[in-house]
Amino acid sequence: MKRYKTYLIFGPPGSGKGTQGTTLGSLPQFFHCACGDVFRSLDTRTELGQAFIYFSGKGELVPDDLTIQLWKVRINDCVRSHHFKPELAALVLDGIPRNVRQAEIMQDMIDVRKVFHLHCADREALVKRLQRRALKDNRLDDANEEVIRERLATYEALSKPLLEFYGEKLIHTIDATQTPVKVLGEIINAINQEG
Ligand code: ADP
Repeated sequence: MKRYKTYLIFGPPGSGKGTQGTTLGSLPQFFHCACGDVFRSLDTRTELGQAFIYFSGKGELVPDDLTIQLWKVRINDCVRSHHFKPELAALVLDGIPRNVRQAEIMQDMIDVRKVFHLHCADREALVKRLQRRALKDNRLDDANEEVIRERLATYEALSKPLLEFYGEKLIHTIDATQTPVKVLGEIINAINQEG
């Protein structure tokens, strides 16, 4: 199988991955897929839907095999329905891969061209952003402060090692406390420079 040309939007919960991914994905020749959205679109009566509620409610990651399987099915559906045309468009992923094992499994499916690391050292700012989002988007996993802190801890322990996995050459770190338009500007500049 040919690997999909891919840009990763990477960062802690609340850093603006979804906003950037959605915006970039609205441009021609980019296709955005947010793993959290794929999970949230599941029927909560199914086994997988229940697993998502269980793990996300604790601030933990859904097990890797379930996650990758679900992601693969979703991407294949998008290719089959021509929503994602891999020969024309680049894939913009946010929320996946989320740990080193997922990255290893996905290596033969995605050709990662850049990892946009939305950096925010101020944890309290992230907590505030997530609490605001809980009200706006009706996201239950964002409502409880204890769960938020657990999700930030999960990011530090399991997701952050991905920066080392992909290595300096692929990582482009961006200050996530800037306005969304500035963050987007940096992402687009970096993609343009790549040629
Ligand atoms: P955020 O943007 O706040 O990081 P997401 O919407 O990406 O949140 O994810 C919400 C929850 O969905 C996570 O806390 C986790 O439980 C689950 N999840 C999303 N993506 C993955 C993944 N790649 N692997 C395992 N669990 C995931």
